[in-house]
Amino acid sequence: MSHWATAPMDRLQVTLFAPTLDDSLVPDHPVRLFDEVVNRLDFSDWESMYVRVAGQPPIHPRLLAKAILYGLSLGIRSSRKLEDACRNRLDFIWLMEGRTPDHSTFCGFRTQFGPQLKSLFRKIGRIGIEMGMVTLNQVMLDGTDTRANNSRHNTARRASLEQKTAALDAQIERLMQQAEEQDKAEDNLYGQETSPANLPRELRDLKRRQEKLKEAMKKLDEREEARAGRKDVSPKGPAIPLADPDSRVLPNKAGGHAPNYTSVLATDADSGMILDTQVLSGNDETSTVLAAADNIEQEFGAKPKQMVGDTGFNSGPNLAGLEERGIEPLMPAKQEFRENPAIRPDPQQPVPAEQRAKLPVNPQSKILDKAAFAYDSAKDCYTCPMGKTLDYSHDNAYKRDEKKGTYQIYQCPSCAGCPLATQCLPKNATERRIGRDEYEASRERTAERMKTEEGRTQYKRRSHAAETPFANLKSKMNFRQFLLRGMEKVEIELRWAAASYNVIKIMRFKAAHAAKTLAATATPPVAAAT
Ligand code: SF4
Repeated sequence: MSHWATAPMDRLQVTLFAPTLDDSLVPDHPVRLFDEVVNRLDFSDWESMYVRVAGQPPIHPRLLAKAILYGLSLGIRSSRKLEDACRNRLDFIWLMEGRTPDHSTFCGFRTQFGPQLKSLFRKIGRIGIEMGMVTLNQVMLDGTDTRANNSRHNTARRASLEQKTAALDAQIERLMQQAEEQDKAEDNLYGQETSPANLPRELRDLKRRQEKLKEAMKKLDEREEARAGRKDVSPKGPAIPLADPDSRVLPNKAGGHAPNYTSVLATDADSGMILDTQVLSGNDETSTVLAAADNIEQEFGAKPKQMVGDTGFNSGPNLAGLEERGIEPLMPAKQEFRENPAIRPDPQQPVPAEQRAKLPVNPQSKILDKAAFAYDSAKDCYTCPMGKTLDYSHDNAYKRDEKKGTYQIYQCPSCAGCPLATQCLPKNATERRIGRDEYEASRERTAERMKTEEGRTQYKRRSHAAETPFANLKSKMNFRQFLLRGMEKVEIELRWAAASYNVIKIMRFKAAHAAKTLAATATPPVAAAT
C-alpha cells in the first residue's frame, strides 16, 4: 500500500457537473502552468522528514507546498483562507485533486521545513538559470519596512515594562496562594490522590504572559546595551514590541512609528527573479550586502558580476568586500556634491575666489568636506582648495561598528593666514587634517564608476528592477505585514513569498516563450491571387 494518501477525487473520474475534474477547469487556466512548474521540483528531502507511523497517510509535501505557493501568488496568505480555498475554489480543488487539508496542517507545514524551503528556493532559482532567464550580470539590492504582527500600541519602554511585570508577578502570586488554599481544601475533602496536578488555566495563561514579558525585558537589555554611549538616539530609551520582541519600532513611510522588520531582496536584473532574501530586526541594510553576495554564490554556484544598491548599502567594508570577491559594486556615496569647484584641471592652482563659496561643506561638521581635497594616488598626498599639499603625517586607530582599523592622517603644513581658514579648519585647530581609511580607494573607484555614462545607465536600471519585486509582493501578493512572529518564522515567511514570486516569473517566461514559438511556426498567410 502506498505511503501517501490517495486522491479522493481522481482528475479523470466522471462527476455530476463535468465528465472529469480536469474538464471543469478551462484549458488555459494559469494554475495548470503553476502545477507544471512545481511538478519539476524534487521534494525527496521533504519526503525524508516524514516518519512512517500508524494512522492516516499524510498528504504529499509537494501538494501542500503547491497550495501555499499558489495561494501566495493570489494574495491568499492565511492558513484558514487556504483551507477555505481548497474546499471551495475550483482551481485549488483541481490543484489539490480534491484533498482538503485543514488550517492547522497548513500552519504547521509552513514553518516546519525551514531548511527544505531554502533548498526549494534554490531549485526554483536553478530552473531560472537552466532556462537562461537568470544571468547574474547585475544583482539589485533593495530593502523595505514590513510590518510585524504586533499592534503599534502594544509596545513598552523600561518603566512601563517593569510596571507590567511587577503587576503580573503580584497577580500570579495571589492566584498561586488561592490555588494552594483550594488544593488544601480539596485534599481535606477528597484525599491527596485527587489533587489537580496542573496549574489552573487562568494561572497558565498568566505564566505564559510572564514568559513573554521576560523575553521582552531581555531584548530591552540587549538593545539598551547596543545603544549605550550613542547621542543620536532618543533619551527615553528603546520601546519593545511585546507580542513580537524580535521586531523593532521603526518609522513608517506613511508617518508615525510601528513595530517592523526590514526585508531585503537581491534580484537578478535581467530576469527579475529574487535570488536572496534577508530579514533584519533593525534597519542596518549595509549588513546584508556581503551576506547576499556569498549566499548567491553558494546557492547558485556563480557570483554576480555587479551588485547595485542605493546609498543605504554603500559602506567602505561592503565596497572593498565586493571588490575582493571579484564583484563590481555600483552604489552612490551617502554624500554626493553635484557642484564641486575643487575638481579642477590643475589641483596645484587655488580654486578661483568667486567659486570658493560653492566648495562642498560636510553637513555634520559644517567645515569643508573631504571631497574638496584632491587625492593623488601616485604621490600619496592630498591637495587642498588653496593648492597646498597635505602629506602623510601619522596613523590613528579607530573602532567603528565593533571593528577596529587604522586611519592614515594627512596634514596641511601651514594653514596660517589662509582665506579659507574659517571654512576649512575645525574649532580650535591650527592645521587641517584629512583621514583616509583602508576602504577609501574602493570608495573612490566606485564614485568614479558612478560618474561615467555607462555607470549612470547601469544604475538607472536599479529603481525598476529592484523595486518591482516589493511592489508586486505588496500590491498583488498582499504581503504588507508578516503573519508569523519571531525572526526565524518571518524569514521563512518571506522565503515562501519569494519562491512563489519566482514560480510566477518562470511561468511568464514559459508562456512568452511558447507564444514566440507558436508565432514562428505559424503558417504564413497565402498571398492574394493577382
Ligand atoms: S585652511 Fe589649510 S588646508 Fe584648508 S584650504 Fe587653507 S591652507 Fe588649505
